[in-house]
Amino acid sequence: MKFSRLYAPTLKETPADSDIKSQELLIRGGFIRKAASGIYSYLPLGWKVVRNIEKIVREEMEKIEAQEILLPVIQSSDIWKESERWFDYGPEMMKFEDRHGREFALGPTHEEMITSTIKNELNSYKQLPMNLYQITTKYRDEIRPRFGVLRAREFIMKDGYSFHKTDESLNETYQDYYKAYEKILERMNAKYVVVEADNGTMGGNESHEFQILAENGESIIVYCEECGYSATIEKATSNEVFSYEEEELKDKEIVSTPNVKTIDEVTEFLNLPKEKIVKSILLRGRDKDILALIRGDQTINISKLRNLIGDQTIQMFEPEEVKKEYGIETGFIGPIDIKDVYIIADQSLKGIKNFVVGSMKKDFHIINANVDRDFKVEEFADIREVKSGEKCPNCSSKINFKKGIEVGQVFKLGTKYSEKLNATFTDQDGKNKPFKMGCYGWGISRTLGAIVEQFHDENGMIWPLSLAPFQIEIIQITDKDKEIVESSNEIYEMLKENYDVVLDDRKVSAGFKFKDSDLIGVPLKVVIGKTLKEGKIELKLRGQKNGELVSIEKKILEEK
Ligand code: ATP
Ligand code: MG
Ligand code: MG
Ligand code: MG
Repeated sequence: MKFSRLYAPTLKETPADSDIKSQELLIRGGFIRKAASGIYSYLPLGWKVVRNIEKIVREEMEKIEAQEILLPVIQSSDIWKESERWFDYGPEMMKFEDRHGREFALGPTHEEMITSTIKNELNSYKQLPMNLYQITTKYRDEIRPRFGVLRAREFIMKDGYSFHKTDESLNETYQDYYKAYEKILERMNAKYVVVEADNGTMGGNESHEFQILAENGESIIVYCEECGYSATIEKATSNEVFSYEEEELKDKEIVSTPNVKTIDEVTEFLNLPKEKIVKSILLRGRDKDILALIRGDQTINISKLRNLIGDQTIQMFEPEEVKKEYGIETGFIGPIDIKDVYIIADQSLKGIKNFVVGSMKKDFHIINANVDRDFKVEEFADIREVKSGEKCPNCSSKINFKKGIEVGQVFKLGTKYSEKLNATFTDQDGKNKPFKMGCYGWGISRTLGAIVEQFHDENGMIWPLSLAPFQIEIIQITDKDKEIVESSNEIYEMLKENYDVVLDDRKVSAGFKFKDSDLIGVPLKVVIGKTLKEGKIELKLRGQKNGELVSIEKKILEEK
C-alpha cells in the first residue's frame, strides 16, 4: 500500500470526547470514527488490526476443533422467554418489534440461539462433544458506553458454545478454550492474568476471565503472590471471606436538596420498612438530583458502582423482592418522566450492570429511562484506592490488587439452557438427558482498544508484529531526489512479496511522516534518505530511540 492512496485520516489534536488514551490514539490515528455513543466505524487501519485479531482467534479455535458458524443477530423473544432471560437480562438488551408487532432483540449473546438451533438435530450421545463458535456483532445497550471500543454498544465478539454428555467432557473442552485463550494473548505479546470469575446470571458453576493488564482497566483483580490465587473483585467478595470497602460507606449521609427526597420520604413513598434500607445512592441528574435505592447482597461491586455514579451512600435491592413485597415491576418501557427517578438493581447481576433506571409512577411501575439521554451521571474521579492489607481468601497472606481489561471469559454453564429450552440427547442407556454446556466469549473489538491501552507511548501506538496494521513502513524522506524515490519503490516492491508494507510516498515533510508513523505504531521503519549515497538505509524499531544503518546489499531486511 502506498500512503498517498491510504484512507487514514490522522489528527494532530486530541479529540474532545475521548476519555481514555487508547480511544484518543485510535481516533487520532484514523483507525476508528465514532458514529454515535458506543457505536463506531472501523476505517482501513482499524479494520486491518481487527482482522489480525480475528485471524489469531480463528487459528486458535481451529486448533481446538471448534467449528465456525454464523447465527443471526436478530433473535425472537420466544427463545428468550423460554430461558426466562427476556426480562432478566435487563435494559442492556436492545429490543424492537417488527411490523406485525412481534418482539425481537439484537443479540447481546447467543446461548438461547445456539441451543434452539442445535436442539432436535444434535440428539445422540454419539455426536458429542460438539464445539461451535462464531465471530459476530453483538448489541448491548450499556448503561455507560465509554472508553471507545472497550465498552461499546455495538461490538464484535467471538463466542463459542460446547455441548457435552458428561462433566469430564465439559471440563476438557473448557480447558481447551482456557489454553487457546492463553495462546491468543501470548501471540499478541500481551501482559495478562487469568482470574477466577463470577458466573453471574449466565448460570453454571465455574468461570474464568482473561484480563489484559492496564492501569485504566475497569476490572479490579485481586491476587496473592504467595499462593497464586487470583480473582475478580466481584468473585473475591462474593464468598464473603473477603470484604471490600463496606465500612467506609456506613456513616455517609444522604445529601438533601430540594429535588432529592430524603430516605424518609422515599421509604414512605414506597412504603418500605425502613430497617431494610441501609444505604442509598444519590445521582446528580442533568435537571435535578436523582435518588436511587439499591438493595442486595455484599457482592455488589461498590467500587465500580462508585466509579459510575459517584462517591455516595449505597442501598441495594433485589428486584424480585421489590416486586413481591412492594408490587414494583422492573423492565417496563414507556414515556420518560424524569421527576422521580429510582434505580433498582438486579443484585444477581452484581449491581451496576443491570440497573433498571426509571421514574416511579403512582402504580409503582418502573419506566425505563436512559442514562445520557435523559440524565447525565456525573463523571467520577477515580476508583477509590483498594484497601491494602486484606487477607487472601485462600492462604491468608497479604492480598494485592491490579487493574485489567476483561478480554475473554469462559463459563461452565451446566444444564441451565438445555433444560429451559428442552435440548436433550439420547444417552447410551436410551434415556433423554439435557446437554451439559460451556460458553466462551472473546471481545474482538475490545482487544483492539485493550492492546493500545497496554502498548503506547507519548507519540502513539506500539503494535505487536502479529496485530500491526502494517509490519513495515518505508519512509521515503523526500520526493525530490530521484534516487531516493526509485530505491524506495524498489525496496517497497521487494518487501511487499513477504510483508505487509506501506510506503510513505506523500508529498509532506519527513518530520510529518515520522510523526504519523509513530502515531499509527508500525513496528519497523525503513528510512530511505541521505545515507543512500553510501548504499545505506536506516532500520528503526517503533519505540526505539536510535535506528541502525545497514547496507542494502546485505539484504539484512529479510533477516530482520
Ligand atoms: P464487562 O464485564 O466488561 O461488561 P461482560 O462480562 O459483560 O463484560 P461477556 O458477556 O463475558 O462480557 O462477553 C464476552 C466478552 O465480550 C467480554 O469478555 C468482552 O471482551 C467483550 N465485551 C463485553 N461487553 C462489551 C462491550 N460493551 N464492548 C466491547 N466488548 C465487550
Ligand atoms: Mg457487561
Ligand atoms: Mg465482565
Ligand atoms: Mg464477562
